[in-house]
Amino acid sequence: MCVMSESLLGLSRLALAQRLESWGYKTVHAKPIWQHIHRDGRSDVAAIPGLPAGLAHRVQEELPVVWPTIALETRSSDGFTRKFLLTLADGRQVETVLMRYDGRVTACVSTQAGCAMGCIFCATGQMGFARHLSTAEIVGQVLAVSIGDHERTKHHAPSTEHQHPAQSTQHPARNVVLMGMGEPLHNYAAVMAATEVLADTAGFGLSPRRITLSTVGVVPGIRRLAAERRPISLAVSLHAATQAGRLALLPPAAKAWPLDELMDACCEYSAALDRHIFFEWTLIAGENDRPDDAHALGRLLSTQRAHVNLIPLNPTDGYAGAPTAPKAARVFQDVLTTYGIPSTVRQRRGIDIASGCGQLAARS
Ligand code: SAH
Ligand code: SF4
Repeated sequence: MCVMSESLLGLSRLALAQRLESWGYKTVHAKPIWQHIHRDGRSDVAAIPGLPAGLAHRVQEELPVVWPTIALETRSSDGFTRKFLLTLADGRQVETVLMRYDGRVTACVSTQAGCAMGCIFCATGQMGFARHLSTAEIVGQVLAVSIGDHERTKHHAPSTEHQHPAQSTQHPARNVVLMGMGEPLHNYAAVMAATEVLADTAGFGLSPRRITLSTVGVVPGIRRLAAERRPISLAVSLHAATQAGRLALLPPAAKAWPLDELMDACCEYSAALDRHIFFEWTLIAGENDRPDDAHALGRLLSTQRAHVNLIPLNPTDGYAGAPTAPKAARVFQDVLTTYGIPSTVRQRRGIDIASGCGQLAARS
């Protein structure tokens, strides 16, 4: 469904300029329109001073700024995580999360409604695939949760009991992680166009390095990122250090892209871009959190430029596993240290608001 493909949010600044020119207007008008939307977070194009008569009307008619609307906002009890359920133009709902740590604001956005990859512990995978999101829908999530707009607040749902009135102001995200619902490399073109729109310095102006794409291990997509020298950061979800282990946890993805091919693609990526890769490891008690698992991971990553993110499992309704206890997570880290591999244990904050991938949408 392409309801939003002609939203202004999905166009690059150059494409907007070309559109204005095709309508007989000067391309110079593209910049103020772009800034109004992407820098100031506003959708009322008619309020832009100095636009020729008729142009604002034409933009509103043919390239409306279609924001996703906020159907639900919940906050973790510590106030650091705000989770949004957003409704798209066709009524589908996706999740976007805004996290605040140490003064840094990070938006975690979705790239698909549902996911075709079927990882057994993931609420989005348990849902199945519905459709790809458009560039406008990916950009729209970041803007909708991160910069204010009086138009959009009309759609704002009433506060939930978790909300704290003093924390109701918007915070522009300076980091974006493509780690919400869906597999970004399964929706390559729309996702890459969204990263370019968000990085445009005349608009939202994100540093490309502060955009992190997380993939389950779509090998052709990783090779394409390398070939195209995409300046964004890359995270690869591993969860197991053997092909058999990955087949058990991520059956379709592991079958399609075996571990040895994935490791080759990662080496190629690091060499092409001269960078390290974040490797994601969801810690599941008794499944992949033993010292032996850490040794296997240490050996596997010995030829990679790696930083490991360890994320204790967020329990989901469709999977019986439990999260690893903090002490076992520390032992796992200590083993990785003996291989010279840096790691971080990431607590998925806001577990009390079901902030695991896809969990809010699954329950709605
Ligand atoms: N499809 C991409 C990005 C979205 S998932 C990917 O798989 O990388 C983002 C991260 O959340 C992945 O590392 C994924 O394995 C992890 N994840 C999914 N469900 C989880 C859960 N229930 N608990 C902890 N991490 C989970
Ligand atoms: Fe899809 Fe990522 Fe969830 Fe796997 S973990 S089902 S790839 S969203």
